Amino acid sequence: SEPFANLPFDNSYGRLPGKFYSRLSPIAARSPYLVEFNQGLAEELRIANHFHDTEATARFLSGSRFPKHADPLAMVYAGHQFGNWVPRLGDGRALLAGEVKDSSGTLWDIHLKGSGPTPYSRNGDGLAALGPVIREYVVSEAMHALDVPTTRSLAVVTTGDNVRREEALEGAVLTRIARSHVRVGTFQYFYANQDHEALQQLADFCIDRLYPDCRNADNPVQALLAKVVEKQATLVAHWLSLGFIHGVMNTDNMAISGETIDYGPCAFMDRFHAAKTFSSIDRHGRYSWGNQPHMAHWNLAQLATALVPILAEDQSDAMQLAQEVLDGFAEQFNQSYLQRFGQKLGLVLKEEQEEAFLNTTLELLTKHQIDFTLFFRHLSEFARDNQHEGLANLFANRRAVAVWLDNWLMLMGQQVNDPSDRYQAMRKANPIYIPRNHQVEAAINAAYHGNFEVFRRLSEVLSKPYTEQAGAEEYEAEPSDNEMVHATFCGT
Ligand code: AMP
Ligand code: MG
Ligand code: MG
Repeated sequence: SEPFANLPFDNSYGRLPGKFYSRLSPIAARSPYLVEFNQGLAEELRIANHFHDTEATARFLSGSRFPKHADPLAMVYAGHQFGNWVPRLGDGRALLAGEVKDSSGTLWDIHLKGSGPTPYSRNGDGLAALGPVIREYVVSEAMHALDVPTTRSLAVVTTGDNVRREEALEGAVLTRIARSHVRVGTFQYFYANQDHEALQQLADFCIDRLYPDCRNADNPVQALLAKVVEKQATLVAHWLSLGFIHGVMNTDNMAISGETIDYGPCAFMDRFHAAKTFSSIDRHGRYSWGNQPHMAHWNLAQLATALVPILAEDQSDAMQLAQEVLDGFAEQFNQSYLQRFGQKLGLVLKEEQEEAFLNTTLELLTKHQIDFTLFFRHLSEFARDNQHEGLANLFANRRAVAVWLDNWLMLMGQQVNDPSDRYQAMRKANPIYIPRNHQVEAAINAAYHGNFEVFRRLSEVLSKPYTEQAGAEEYEAEPSDNEMVHATFCGT
């Protein structure tokens, strides 16, 4: 029988008017080859049994051949890229292959990235090189294992076609799964076109799909905005607590669902620095680690502006409703940030003295160029067994850390939490394994040489980031000076 004939598609986005997207036909890849299939994710989505034929899977997930009842389309959106307004972006190298309903009735987008040009490709070729596809797979799945809301990765397929970048690279397609790919930029597109009917349809779509409770609010559109603000405030606080730098927080890369989306020049920093960026195109540090909350707020202000026409009849009422919600961002972010860093430090950060201590901690890491992940990991161990060697060994200047530790112990002494609860909380906030850039690069290099084992092993270790794994020491270590990666934007 026809493969995927019974895959339970329900293409709700395709039922929106035609101005929301462009329908597409498949573009055959030369020789699609299934490199990786995320069986665990397929099972979570209850679609695993449809993907038993490897070759049919490779044809489908390279965009070469779609199931008959699929309705592939490229979504249109606009966006601010590094602050500059672009009135039409859209899926230039991606498409929504379909939406599947899991057994609980939740819909998931199946999105192919790198499957060929679309009406929104502008000057691009619509393709993706294997390296960035491997990076997105590894980092997005690691983020999920770290409990961060994120798009997921279902598969990597190589196409057998070359992609022209600075050099010719092997082409690949990533299958990305999300609760929805609607972005801040999708709302901006219809706002800029002064299409208020479409804005309302899009808001209704997002409410039905993502936040059905908003339907019962006095003002469902304001409730939707409040949801997105809350999700983004907590998301960015979560990123910061892990040393994650998204790298390209343009409004078209901010999902209404609150999922982390678009893994390009992203990175987890090794040595802590608040102004750290990895993207070679981010020359002014717009999307540096410490600037991410400001940029999230800026993006949300763009969303709020786009919603003004449908927030209230009267424009000044609408602006006030939008402002009310936006004003809540700082407080929600701060609360979440202090809660996450409090967990990392084993402290309840509620008094000014303790907040000041967090800043002192980050200054200590900056001044002594300390690895962010290792510092907190060793601090958890210290909380467990009172041995401070691991922590002290990170510092060339042991006196600096000794003074800091005295202060930590003093604050700790003033707190009421039980030491074993404290350790458990710290353990869950301080991962052992993060996708370190040099390890991701090693997986990418091996993949270009036809060896996918490095990628698979890395993915396996990262699937249990909080569990010490025998034989995985190399994955927790910080890079040597030679291995240190300074930029992660080297051809997409
Ligand atoms: P990004 O910076 O990844 O968010 O991409 C910004 C815009 O450029 C989006 O509209 C993408 O679809 C488009 N784009 C990125 N790379 C390509 C490519 N290789 N071909 C066509 N469009 C692309
Ligand atoms: Mg994007
Ligand atoms: Mg991208």
